[in-house]
Amino acid sequence: MPTYSNYINGEWAPAARTFENRNPADTSELVGLFARASAAEMTNAVEAAQCAFAGWSSLTGPARGNFLFKAAEILDSRFEQLALEMTREEGKTLPESKGEVRRAINIFKYFAGEGSRMPGHLVPSERDRVFMFALRKPIGVVGLVTPWNFPSAIPAWKLAPALVAGNTVVIKPASAAPLSSWRLVEALAEAGVPKGVVNFVAGSGGELGEALVEAGPLKAISFTGSCGIGQWLHERASRRRLRIQLEMGGKNPTIVLADADFKAAVENCVNGAFFSTGQKCTATSRVIVEDSIHDRFVDAFVERTSKLKVGDGREPGIDIGPAVDQDQLETDLRYIEIGNKDGATLQYGGRRLSEGAWAKGYFIEPAIFTGVEEGMTIAQEEIFGPVAAVLRARDFDHAIRIANNVAFGLSASIQTQNVSRIFDYVQKIEAGLLTVNLPSAGVEYQLPFGGTKESSFGPKEQGPAAMDFYTDYKTVYLKY
Ligand code: NAP
Repeated sequence: MPTYSNYINGEWAPAARTFENRNPADTSELVGLFARASAAEMTNAVEAAQCAFAGWSSLTGPARGNFLFKAAEILDSRFEQLALEMTREEGKTLPESKGEVRRAINIFKYFAGEGSRMPGHLVPSERDRVFMFALRKPIGVVGLVTPWNFPSAIPAWKLAPALVAGNTVVIKPASAAPLSSWRLVEALAEAGVPKGVVNFVAGSGGELGEALVEAGPLKAISFTGSCGIGQWLHERASRRRLRIQLEMGGKNPTIVLADADFKAAVENCVNGAFFSTGQKCTATSRVIVEDSIHDRFVDAFVERTSKLKVGDGREPGIDIGPAVDQDQLETDLRYIEIGNKDGATLQYGGRRLSEGAWAKGYFIEPAIFTGVEEGMTIAQEEIFGPVAAVLRARDFDHAIRIANNVAFGLSASIQTQNVSRIFDYVQKIEAGLLTVNLPSAGVEYQLPFGGTKESSFGPKEQGPAAMDFYTDYKTVYLKY
């Protein structure tokens, strides 16, 4: 059984202790053993990154970009293997894993090109013979803390802009799915990225988070994960005035208006709510349906959902894989119980699936609740599983009011053919990622990514916006 070491200062460090990475579709299958780092190793990793900073940041942007292009080529040469590994460690279906690995490769390429652009500002001065401009400079050592649900894409969209901007990094992956990000670091190492520039430190978040946030040379943290951990990190990082970027939970609505393309709307809701087992931060967890089509929509939503096949994501024809682990499965089941107790109607699904081919995994039937009121727990709290709450809206304005009546503001979707409504929705909805006549999930890397309200804090990720977090300006006034 392979043991995946941590990567600190250009060395694959021997593992004093390990933790298991198991396949959530078949828990008898060990995907790998991972070194469980100590707090001291985290501190060493940050110090190694600090030592490497001067050399790495003095390279030209295009030179740094070339390392990313090379790493992208290496990843591409292992495409099938990486996708299969992702399905084995996270549980998502093989086509979904392939899509994510392709996205990670494209993210590397996109930001590799950014090394040759990195636009600053050049503006005319009010003074004669004064030339003024602002250059982007890297900020130093950045800590990257990532979740398990997009185990390759999220690490890629932090690593690539951080590195191309000239920062050095320490990445701490989620313990539930560390292999996909380990592969990114392996590719960067093979591409010849100098020692100390990229450091990989796996292990318990509680233990390593403390060491990371207290490490002297650290300048910034980019975190994606739950609101609770994000809040804790924010408080600790603020004490030291670290720069921080937080991408956290959501309670994302899809509004279905009476004039929507009905079939497409049903399909988009099923996709948004249940694909990837509902374990996308941008997944639809509330479906807000205009009164006049509510009952017809629910019938079609249930009918289509009942056709979804739950199982091992490696098998062809499977739509939904398992929950990522026992904890997430229990969370899903607990919220289903809460929905029932609060008086919502479990219209479809919600059973733990444990017979036959499901016996060794964390499988659950997708669940649809109807009769959900705005204030109910299942309409307010993030579940992060395949559970959709259907709410009834009198009209468009009412739907928008319900949609905004949560603490979160990550993604949102509307299904309608009415152009005025679409523009009203774009203006009024409180979310950072908006879709129209598409599922609420499914973003690309070329535009800014991130939410509002309690979902996010700090500059956006991805697209040109990513550079705002990973760089500082130096402003120059030059008399000639
Ligand atoms: P999580 O439990 O918050 O963990 C995220 C990361 O933080 C993991 O690497 C975890 O390590 C680490 N961690 C745990 N305790 C820590 C501490 N005290 N200090 C520093 N790091 C610590 O979240 P998750 O369960 O992996 O992911 C699901 C959540 O992520 C959901 O809420 C989802 O909405 C959110 N998410 C948001 C976005 C977005 O862009 N907005 C995208 C994807 C996911 P361990 O694994 O070792 O505990």
